[in-house]
Amino acid sequence: MTRKYNFSAGPAGLPSEVLLQAQEELLDWHGKGLSIMEMSHRSKEFVSVAEAAEQDLRDLMGIGSDYKVLFLQGGATSQFSMIPMNLLRGKTTADYINTGIWSKKAIQEASRYCDVRIAASSEGNGFTAVPSQSELELNAEAAYLHYTPNETIGGLEFDYVPQSGDVPLVADLSSTILSREIDVNQFGLIYAGAQKNIGPAGLTVVIVREDLLGDVVAGTPTMFDYKVHADAESMCNTPPTYGWYLAGLVFKWLKAQGGVAAIQAANQRKQEKLYAAIDASDFYANPMASANRSWMNVPFTLADDALDKLFLEQAEESGLLNLKGHRSVGGMRASIYNAVPEEAVDALIAFMQQFEKQHA
Ligand code: PMP
Repeated sequence: MTRKYNFSAGPAGLPSEVLLQAQEELLDWHGKGLSIMEMSHRSKEFVSVAEAAEQDLRDLMGIGSDYKVLFLQGGATSQFSMIPMNLLRGKTTADYINTGIWSKKAIQEASRYCDVRIAASSEGNGFTAVPSQSELELNAEAAYLHYTPNETIGGLEFDYVPQSGDVPLVADLSSTILSREIDVNQFGLIYAGAQKNIGPAGLTVVIVREDLLGDVVAGTPTMFDYKVHADAESMCNTPPTYGWYLAGLVFKWLKAQGGVAAIQAANQRKQEKLYAAIDASDFYANPMASANRSWMNVPFTLADDALDKLFLEQAEESGLLNLKGHRSVGGMRASIYNAVPEEAVDALIAFMQQFEKQHA
């Protein structure tokens, strides 16, 4: 078996240990004579898997009993509309911080439901630094403040949690959830598509403070009402059972690594050495303000973009996959989520140095 190093931004690599366990249990889950994906979501077997996954996530993130954890479908993109539909709660305006492509998409969708005010934007600095707390123009009448702690495409990450007073804080943690410790109590709602640090695509995790549930915008589809999902423990209809199961295996794997604190330490080392390698060379560049460089998504450019194609070809030949930058920005992007081992980053750095020697 040759598993190559996968730097995909998502769907991203999963821990080999998790895939091996899934393989082992694929045909016959725990001696039941069938696959977990062939079972009723209401069977006691699946319910036990679902409950364990939720509990493990609660343990990993320190999620209190005043929060509901929802296992939904529709991707993070569905959350762009579910959030205003559920959290406006009679108000007509919401604050958004614009730090790049994913915040813009959230803003665009929310504008269909309410008056979106831009509390701050990174546009002025070319999306290379996040606005500081003092630059946030917060509206006390806003239903919530939304921000994107990590911009997956730009590679821009907040180095602080915005303080929004009594206004609930909403965060799109799609590409940074479980990569470092956060205090969930600072948030009204957290959401994340699973396909980066949680599991396969098709599952979306929402962590929402219970007092924010109910009172949706008129016309909200049943499936877009958090309270419906919360009351039914995410089983008001058939949930993405296999994704939920795999997420549970990833949470167990994460616990075995020492939990979020331990993975944070590994992630810190990984990003530090990769940015250090980029900074040490005139051949590679990353323009982000150093405090706001993403730990999970590291975009970089080559001094001569005519070499991009060759770089990607040779990287692939060296077993380094999916380094092509997002189609909207070009260049390269190494996504180094939890499941990307430190040795993959070492191998990437060695390859980059070798490539530079040959082509600089
Ligand atoms: N927000 C962020 C920060 C993302 O990185 C992504 C996906 N890359 C999305 C939202 C959209 O997620 P989905 O494809 O699950 O709808």
